[in-house]
Amino acid sequence: MFRRFAILLIVPLVVAGGFMLDKLMMPEPPVAPAKPPAAAPAQAPEPVATAPSQEPKPVVTARTEPAPPPVAAAPAEQTPIHIVTAPLTQERKPVVTEPPAPAPKPVVTIPPAPAPKPVVAALPPQEQKPVVSAPPASAPATVVAALPPEQPAAPIINPPLPLKRPVITEMTIPAKALFVRAKLPSVGPSRAIGYYPRGCLQGGVELPPDGPHWEVMRPARNRNWGHPELVTFLERFSRLAAKATGWPGILVGDMAQPRGGPLPYGHASHQVGLDVDIWYSPMPDHRLTEKQRNEMPPLFLVAPDRKHVNAKTWTPADAAFIRTAAEQPEVERIFVNAAIKKQLCHLEGKHHYTWMDKVRPWYGHDDHMHVRLKCPADSPHCRHQPPVPASDDCSEKALAYWFSDRVLHPKPSPKPAKPPKQITLADMPAACKTVLDAPAKHTDLTAIER
Ligand SMILES: [Zn+2]
Repeated sequence: MFRRFAILLIVPLVVAGGFMLDKLMMPEPPVAPAKPPAAAPAQAPEPVATAPSQEPKPVVTARTEPAPPPVAAAPAEQTPIHIVTAPLTQERKPVVTEPPAPAPKPVVTIPPAPAPKPVVAALPPQEQKPVVSAPPASAPATVVAALPPEQPAAPIINPPLPLKRPVITEMTIPAKALFVRAKLPSVGPSRAIGYYPRGCLQGGVELPPDGPHWEVMRPARNRNWGHPELVTFLERFSRLAAKATGWPGILVGDMAQPRGGPLPYGHASHQVGLDVDIWYSPMPDHRLTEKQRNEMPPLFLVAPDRKHVNAKTWTPADAAFIRTAAEQPEVERIFVNAAIKKQLCHLEGKHHYTWMDKVRPWYGHDDHMHVRLKCPADSPHCRHQPPVPASDDCSEKALAYWFSDRVLHPKPSPKPAKPPKQITLADMPAACKTVLDAPAKHTDLTAIER
């Protein structure tokens, strides 16, 4: 009887105890879901800004870049946010949000909202104790290192956060710093994407350092990449040029980086794999060493007064060299120094050769010509340049600008010029981020050479 009574007494106690234990083990109820962060700039359309191009009439106007079909779309930014509630005290319940998407590289993301918000660190998923969390947009900003209220007069140890912190993300740093890191082209079919001074190259191919009628110069720069049509053009043109000039072949300067994009120095264009600089120096009849290719100075064709070609270096073969390039149907434009253009006009005389329309005077270009190809048929997201005017522009009036004082002898500006705005990934076609993030394409050639 007593035992039955004892059991009756103990059982509820055990049950109650177990329940309390369960209650203690249970996690706190989840906090109300936070709003997803404001749309990240990853999908931002190409901006309006005009390109700081060195090429004539770059005319970059506002244009929305739909993602091209061949490449996988970037991960959607609308992924629901996983909310982790940290085991925290009753008073403070910061919500810790994980990075919105499993980005391949750790990207530092800060809500682009104007509100002054504390730093958000993108954390690897395994990490347990996040540093600071971004409060939802409606919540008041979390005070970091606030002074205890009872000591208002105490010296401030941590200076107050600035109202606007510099936002550092992959989308806001200069894109040239990202593209120069890609040592190999992306996988995927070859596509020129965007505009010559603002774009990139998917599935780039390498011009071999040596061919029957060419040698690649400045190999240390790793800029002998392009769309396959550029490589095919150079293979054919080098043969035609050798025949037209009597040279053993041509010296090929900068093309594009493996994935195109802005270059850290040297050019505003050369971004989509359709531009190439070809030296006026003939290829020698032997193979140059790596050191010679990286250091050998080019041949200058312009006289010191910059109004004429240099009689010591200019030869009729140079005219044949430029003409042969301009006659190729896939060539869109060729940029040469104005003194060289003037010399070609002089040779043309009263004729009007249509190839002369493509030869455009431009700054520099006194030691190489810059050949630009048309957008290839396989690249729907390559942006065409307006066609050259149907004029050889050989009149004195047309050339006068290039020999004016402000071009030949520009006055130094009294105050230092503002550096041009750097192109960021957010300024480029959305597909260029996909190109940048894509795995490397290993070709037989790259396997041997690199
Ligand atoms: Zn160039």
